[in-house]
Amino acid sequence: MEFPLYYYDEDEHLPEKQALDEILEIDPICCHCKNTGVQVPLVMVENISDNDEYDGYAFTACHLCKCTSMHYLIQFTTETPSIHGIDYGRQFKVTKSFPSRAFDREFSDEVSKISKDFIDIYNQSKEAENTGLDKIAGMGYRKATEFLVTDYLKWIKLEDVDNQWLENPKTPLAAKIAKIPNEKTRDVSKAISYLGNDETHYTRRHPEYDVQFIKAFISVLVTEIESEITYREAKNLLSKK
Ligand SMILES: [Zn+2]
Repeated sequence: MEFPLYYYDEDEHLPEKQALDEILEIDPICCHCKNTGVQVPLVMVENISDNDEYDGYAFTACHLCKCTSMHYLIQFTTETPSIHGIDYGRQFKVTKSFPSRAFDREFSDEVSKISKDFIDIYNQSKEAENTGLDKIAGMGYRKATEFLVTDYLKWIKLEDVDNQWLENPKTPLAAKIAKIPNEKTRDVSKAISYLGNDETHYTRRHPEYDVQFIKAFISVLVTEIESEITYREAKNLLSKK
């Protein structure tokens, strides 16, 4: 059994066919320090079995923090011709990287002020999605939304909504959403909960919408909540005059 191995050819001493930087496309963002800088390809192995889920694996090192990362690769072809017997038309690119937590989505101070749990659950769901657990990521995004809606309602303090009701596990998400005063925030929350139910149940009622839609709707919800928080701060200031 012979596995094709490729190495980083810093001094250009290696035989041409092993030069890794010629065939590997690497994003310049580090999985550890998140900075954009040269990610030095160290070694790559090309898979030879049809049963492998990926076409290869590679390790890279960050030029800035010196940390190493691992990547799952897929093969693709380009128009580049073959030169000196090397097929430059066959390239590899990264499809997943580890550690993946470095790619957590960042949220504003406004959102982290009202719901730290939302951010944690959202990023755990994102990590599930990034590592191929796409069948359960949607449930996680729905749970994240439930935390955000609940914490938001606690934060805006409505007259007819108390914390005991909000924290009661028997209170359905739909009932909480119905209490949201702003129409746009309410509608987008409702849409997420519909799609979230699809992710939880056996039969999908909205098969044309997938997890990407849930994420897009959560982005709108977050923007709405952020602007509401900022607006209330402005109102607060005005009331002091
Ligand atoms: Zn780094």
